[in-house]
Amino acid sequence: MDNEKLAQTIQGEIVQATGEKVAVSVRDGIAELTGQAGSLQNAVDAGHIAAGLEQVRQVVNDVDYPGKMPVVLPPKISDELTGKEFDVVIVGGGVIGLAITRELSRFDLRIALIERHHDLGMDQTAHCNAMIHPALLTERGTLKWEMNYKGNAMWDEVAGQLDVDFKRIGTLVVAENSDEELFLPGVVDLAKSQNDPEPKVLDRAGLDRIEPGLAPNIKKGVLVWNTGVIGVFELIIAYAENALINGVKFFLNTSATGVQVEDGSIRAVETTRGTIKTRILVNAAGLYSDKIAELAGDRFFSLHPRKGETIIFDKSYQPVRTVLATFSMVGERSAYSKGGGIIPTVDGNLQFGPTAEEVFDRGDVATTSVARETLFSRFAPSLQRAKPHYTKPDRGTIITQFAGCRAATYKEDFIIEPSKKVRGLVHVAGIQSPGLAAAPAVAERAKEIIVEDRHPAENMKFEPRRVRSKHFSELDQRERMELIRSNPLYGHIVCRCEHVSEGEIVTALHGGIAAYSVDAIKRRTRAGAGRCQGGFCMPRVLDIISRESNIDKQLATKNGGKSFILRGKVKQVKK
Ligand SMILES: Cc1cc2nc3c(=O)[nH]c(=O)nc-3n(C[C@H](O)[C@H](O)[C@H](O)COP(=O)(O)OP(=O)(O)OC[C@H]3O[C@@H](n4cnc5c(N)ncnc54)[C@H](O)[C@@H]3O)c2cc1C
Repeated sequence: MDNEKLAQTIQGEIVQATGEKVAVSVRDGIAELTGQAGSLQNAVDAGHIAAGLEQVRQVVNDVDYPGKMPVVLPPKISDELTGKEFDVVIVGGGVIGLAITRELSRFDLRIALIERHHDLGMDQTAHCNAMIHPALLTERGTLKWEMNYKGNAMWDEVAGQLDVDFKRIGTLVVAENSDEELFLPGVVDLAKSQNDPEPKVLDRAGLDRIEPGLAPNIKKGVLVWNTGVIGVFELIIAYAENALINGVKFFLNTSATGVQVEDGSIRAVETTRGTIKTRILVNAAGLYSDKIAELAGDRFFSLHPRKGETIIFDKSYQPVRTVLATFSMVGERSAYSKGGGIIPTVDGNLQFGPTAEEVFDRGDVATTSVARETLFSRFAPSLQRAKPHYTKPDRGTIITQFAGCRAATYKEDFIIEPSKKVRGLVHVAGIQSPGLAAAPAVAERAKEIIVEDRHPAENMKFEPRRVRSKHFSELDQRERMELIRSNPLYGHIVCRCEHVSEGEIVTALHGGIAAYSVDAIKRRTRAGAGRCQGGFCMPRVLDIISRESNIDKQLATKNGGKSFILRGKVKQVKK
């Protein structure tokens, strides 16, 4: 079909499905949509319809709709980075940018990573469910599937080298009646095709060994062993610490605001803190990767943020060891989401989630009572039905809720490729779920692209290992006493729920990637991650931040930016 015919077909399908008449043009496999739609959902549907045609490689969706929020670039704040020069600059300090940093540090390259936030991993990565998905639910034949499949298998080695908590807890798919039992051999075949080690239909005795206390009507199931859970906050720091050992430079609070291209090649990246020269630019900017592509003059895809909310239960409520899936839950999946689930974490907190909702704002991290109720009423009955003798799920044991957006392209697939227009630009974009599971494979693919183009020499001093300092709560009595003797601050417990000592908080404040906010400390130490959610320890953490950073307490933030916690004194103390 020629471009004009293809554009007409897309336009016709959009009108038929949404009633919206948008303008469509197609060039080099890229469909561009412009015009006006009556709603966000119609504009998103239009993008999906265009992407649904096989000849369309990507979709640039410029359709306007009421409430549309443009991406606004932040103003320049200084020139301190001007004059710096690197071989590679990576834009984006999420799990993908960090994993790429580590892979590239295997080579003799001068590497820098820039991140717009005050801390790493604060967008998609911090708001994910920390699950290493099996490739089972990802569409075969897509790049997403390939990366999910390969990445999943790499985690044992990567997490081992980086000293990060990682457990293969498995997904237990259970049949609740004899009709559903008929589907189990299909699950076995699917798992086998994903290289799962020896999946088989388990009888009740087999199920009891894995997940005791299932309802009497559950007689058969299949364990998909490849499912894992990982300490995602630890992982972010681990990647960064490993990269630091290998010579990578990090620039936080630094936004990319422009890309300089000369003679078709990358020359420099303009940032809010000055212009950095580079020959290679890796676009790993997550929810803003389409903007970085546009800044480089290579706009060929658009992202549409899909928000996910999750609720978390107190550690006292641990009804499952595995990710538990029933057929009714799988059946409730939507077209573009795996549908969420009942997911334990490495730290022992159960999660219900995430939801999936198209939203206006890529930065939307607001939690809502509607989502809390939706998640609870969807998963609590499934859990209660599958495990009737366990304590009933109770809204009172929900300790917190979080939300974040997925960076979805209209093709709903990953983009990992060198730019077709600008030499030295590599796009690693549209890495939505299961991007965490896929991260080591995505990083390897990005590395291959760069190595093939530039042939860098190996870094003979590359150190693959990083050793973490254990949390005080993980130590035995003898180790604790030794630590307290060497530094008495370890003898002072600040967070009672998670048993976090002052020594750990001070270490986090002065770490290689220093923590400056209450949440950054929480991500590194778990202070404030427990039942009281910082109700008890937050004032103490504020005191420590103020003392160690030598700033007024009023200037300390919850999570960077202007998220100040204290507004002023309520009472003047007379001296
Ligand atoms: C609700 C939810 C649940 C999920 N659950 C899972 C799960 O259980 N398992 C799984 O495998 N995947 C999951 N995912 C997907 C996974 O989180 C992502 O695929 C992964 O984190 C993507 O990492 P990233 O580095 O590409 O993006 P991000 O983590 O978003 O990182 C991109 C970074 O780029 C920075 N940046 C953007 N623009 C600029 C700029 N101009 N200058 C400088 N820096 C910039 C951002 O600040 C950000 O830190 C989930 C995602 C969501 C939203």
